Amino acid sequence: MSAEARIIRGRILSFTDDPAAAGASAHRLIDDGAVLVAGGRIEAVGRASDILPRAPGGAPVDDHAGSLIMPGLIDAHVHYPQTQVIGSYGAQLLDWLNNYTFVEEQKFADPAHCARVADFFLDELFRSGTTTAMVYCTVHPQSVDAFFAAAEARGARMIAGKVMMDRDAPQALMDTAERGYDESKALIERWRGRGRLGYAITPRFAVTSTEAQLEAAGALAREFPHCYIQTHADENKAEIARVAALFPEARSYIDVYARAGLTGPRSVFGHCIHLQESEVAELAESRSVAAFCPTSNLFLGSGLFDEARLARAGVRIALATDVGGGTSYSMLHTAAEGYKVLQLNRQSWPAMHAFYRMTLGNARALSLDDSIGSVEAGKEADLVVLDPRATPALAHRMETAGGDLEVELFALMMMGDDRAVRQTYVAGEPRKGGIGL
Ligand SMILES: [Zn+2]
Repeated sequence: MSAEARIIRGRILSFTDDPAAAGASAHRLIDDGAVLVAGGRIEAVGRASDILPRAPGGAPVDDHAGSLIMPGLIDAHVHYPQTQVIGSYGAQLLDWLNNYTFVEEQKFADPAHCARVADFFLDELFRSGTTTAMVYCTVHPQSVDAFFAAAEARGARMIAGKVMMDRDAPQALMDTAERGYDESKALIERWRGRGRLGYAITPRFAVTSTEAQLEAAGALAREFPHCYIQTHADENKAEIARVAALFPEARSYIDVYARAGLTGPRSVFGHCIHLQESEVAELAESRSVAAFCPTSNLFLGSGLFDEARLARAGVRIALATDVGGGTSYSMLHTAAEGYKVLQLNRQSWPAMHAFYRMTLGNARALSLDDSIGSVEAGKEADLVVLDPRATPALAHRMETAGGDLEVELFALMMMGDDRAVRQTYVAGEPRKGGIGL
């Protein structure tokens, strides 16, 4: 991590709370603001006129006049091995896995392939303004080693884990309950807590893990309580029927995970679309997180996430791309599609709520809000600079925004993507152009 001081100047927007609960007092905007970063952390934030005189002599000033400086965006569910099957035609979940994912993931037996894709993936996240993600690797331990090595080299805060699968997958992609446990444990001991890295115990989903493997994952979670758990649940109706047939004794899909000790405040369940009432209650009571993956849910025809229902029940919610089932690395584009999904459910989603979700909301969902998710002194210096006039169409649209922040943010979210990202800072270092910058 660089110890060099730097000033980043622009309009600063950051959340202190959930606007759904706290309204207009949930965010703070500083029109001509500056962030002083040093040693990978935010040292001070305020008006430029107050911060500039405090900078050490010779500290560079990155002037982003007119652009918004926000906390780095956070993606709560994404698959790094799927960067070369994103946008593959014509399948719903189970066929998509068999026809594309399970073919592609076999390439990750080769450590050189793992390293090349991990580098591409992280640089693409940074290009899109995302600085932290919760990431699925493949069944191969070398896929996790490569990912964490690439994240560590970039000083990035990342969470990842080895996929565990011991049935219903190609032989080359299967471990066993015991091997999945042993390999995951070795990876946890090698990587967790190193740099800014966190580990997620990662049974892919109940279709491809036996009860014995889910129990082994639960044992790992008890043994390493600081690890996360990530898996998929209630995405697709054929998938749900398959889980019901495989686990006839369970009350529901979520109950399969609860019985193995896999629900809880550090558990993130991708999708959560077709939930029974008892499952909503189980997620809420266990403080588990449901990850809303709108581009994936639309692309794979899985269904419409019911945010209002989950929020009403007190379920913690995150927003995620789910690349490569998801079709964009951009959290802006993901939020735009999320808005459309909620429209079809007759639910509203103001821009403030969506930007909260991409930043502090997702930091809270991943229990990382003491480190990231807002532009505050003491936090890690992960920042994105968004230019609301980045394209001719955006600039043209902004002519009628009338200085209204809500209008500006909503248009930016609906029309923006990686083109709106002027710069991404990871631990205070500019990274939009890759690790070489
Ligand atoms: Zn997924």
